[in-house]
Amino acid sequence: MRYRTLGAAGLTVSEIGFGTIPLLAGDAPVLPAYRSPDPETAVSSMRSAYDMGCNLFDTAAYDEYGDAEYKLGLFAASVPRETIILSDKARKYTGSEMRNAVLTSCDRLGARPDIYFVHQVDERNADVVFSEGGALDALCELKREGLIRFTGVASHYYATLERAALDPRVDVLQMSGNILERGMLERMKDNRALVEKGVILNKVYAAGLLLQDYTPAELIGGILRYPISSALIGVGTFDEAKAAMRQEYLPNEIPFEDVFRYLSRNYDLVKCDRCQRCVCRRRHELHSVVRYFNYMKLGKAEWAKRHLRMYLSKIQKYCAACPDAPCVSSCPQNLPFPEIVELIAQSVENDSER
Ligand code: SF4
Ligand code: SF4
Repeated sequence: MRYRTLGAAGLTVSEIGFGTIPLLAGDAPVLPAYRSPDPETAVSSMRSAYDMGCNLFDTAAYDEYGDAEYKLGLFAASVPRETIILSDKARKYTGSEMRNAVLTSCDRLGARPDIYFVHQVDERNADVVFSEGGALDALCELKREGLIRFTGVASHYYATLERAALDPRVDVLQMSGNILERGMLERMKDNRALVEKGVILNKVYAAGLLLQDYTPAELIGGILRYPISSALIGVGTFDEAKAAMRQEYLPNEIPFEDVFRYLSRNYDLVKCDRCQRCVCRRRHELHSVVRYFNYMKLGKAEWAKRHLRMYLSKIQKYCAACPDAPCVSSCPQNLPFPEIVELIAQSVENDSER
């Protein structure tokens, strides 16, 4: 295992971190790719990753990751505390909610998290999060009190990450990306504030979907060439830990064009790298629509269709009547919206009829 410095926080983190979604049991609303092992098995999976040099373990509050936080706490109690870094998060946006979430997490972990993220910050909740007395201020207060060591913002949105990178209250960032959805990684390469803040990356396997066509070495090597500090890999079993962590993966270059061409042999995908440059005059999230569509094609059909139906009900009629579709010219791939929206709607309908 190799190690990198986590930006301004200065922590030394393993290049591969342990994501705990596959450990959770319960009816958690995360993308359903978890295995629900019993606590003993979960702890031994984490122990095997630890023995291979992993020192960063990431989880989330109970209402998001079920009992994963509790299982991580069991593991944390079994090793010298100073040898691991605990990263936790909650989707709480006001100051009082965040304070309660952190206190509850400390109880469930039986330990103080090193990093605590405001989770899934986006443009709808960002003003509350960043406002005086919001979740970020609460994390700063908890840091002063010694309940956490570092504050963080986790987001799937590039604009939100840029805002967080410029905020001195934020110590660490968490974002998503992989060799297919690499648009944000490409943009962050040239963004000094983001790189200097320190980035932990999730969704490296795209919820396991890219493992159908690529090896862990290709997926991990493909993102290690970006200036991130650690790549979180969802691990539920000893074999998965071994596949992700038993060797040092060299950064490798697999061009986006090659990835898209390779995946297109088997899946009818839209050629989007999730760069989030598309601008819609009605602020529709085209990149999310395309992401759910691609995940539907890659195999998470029911989960993706649920989200697609919600988005399509909001955007379809507007796209059909949009006079000049500025989203097309702002997309580096020149994706022909609104035709694509119609094709996606048709595809969802056909898939539902089967
Ligand atoms: S076609 Fe018009 S309404 Fe639809 S996403 Fe593009 S800009 Fe927005
Ligand atoms: S639709 Fe185009 S601009 Fe939008 S995220 Fe995808 S590639 Fe980027």
